[in-house]
Amino acid sequence: MRLLLLLMILPLAFGAQAAQDRFANVEITTVKVAGNVSLLYGSGGNIGVSAGPDGILMIDDQFLPLSDRIKAALAELGTDSPTWLLNTHYHGDHTGGNPAFGDSSIIVAHDNVRLRLLAGQPPMAAEGLPVVTYSDRASIHFNGEEVRLIHLPTGHTDGDSVVLFTESGVIHLGDHFFRDRFPYVDLNGGGTVDGYIRNVEMMLTMIDDDMHIIPGHGELARRDDLVRFLDMMKATRAKVQQMLDAGNSAEDIVARGLGDQWSSWNWAFINEERWIRTLVSDLQ
Ligand SMILES: [Zn+2]
Repeated sequence: MRLLLLLMILPLAFGAQAAQDRFANVEITTVKVAGNVSLLYGSGGNIGVSAGPDGILMIDDQFLPLSDRIKAALAELGTDSPTWLLNTHYHGDHTGGNPAFGDSSIIVAHDNVRLRLLAGQPPMAAEGLPVVTYSDRASIHFNGEEVRLIHLPTGHTDGDSVVLFTESGVIHLGDHFFRDRFPYVDLNGGGTVDGYIRNVEMMLTMIDDDMHIIPGHGELARRDDLVRFLDMMKATRAKVQQMLDAGNSAEDIVARGLGDQWSSWNWAFINEERWIRTLVSDLQ
């Protein structure tokens, strides 16, 4: 009996070990963007930070095992204890650190983020839940500027926010922008490809060439990079639509592929096959 128990526990212990190792070599690096705003790279969604006389406002917080390293990076910018923590959406690579910040920070997100975190398996710890939620738009006046949260419906998920720093000229697009990578569209989390494309088009009407764009994943960007991303989505969507119209199955389209033109957009999480299957499910 004891042996059986040991055999059951061992893989769990090794599993936890592997999960820890996954973050062992992650370093948080800080890049000044413009005005009050900095960008923290690590593992998971990019973190945006406003640092100034009022303290720190942070956008997203990656994974819980990285929280101490994120706090050390924030301390360099003024304080390791943000006044505000905004979640762009519910995914674990953007909200994983919430429990480490919720005691001292006010967590803000779209209404659906709180609902999805509560419905998670397991649910988000109480101290990691958003305490201020909003439905369409909200503004926080902080460090001398209006920080505007704008909800983008049914795109990446059903609860996405982008965050515009009106004076610094910076926008954090969350996972409505994967720079030079195929996007993840969470069809089970209320996302749609059409909505995603429509949202990116709407964003382009608000963004000019002087602005800096923080993508959810990938390097700091400019308007041209977002245009390139939109063009890729439209072209690959049209191509898959064409192949479906010609009577091809999902398997046929995966086998044929999208062509060499788009191969550089492959990445570990969303490779060409996964992007094709997303397009097919959405178009059907
Ligand atoms: Zn995401």
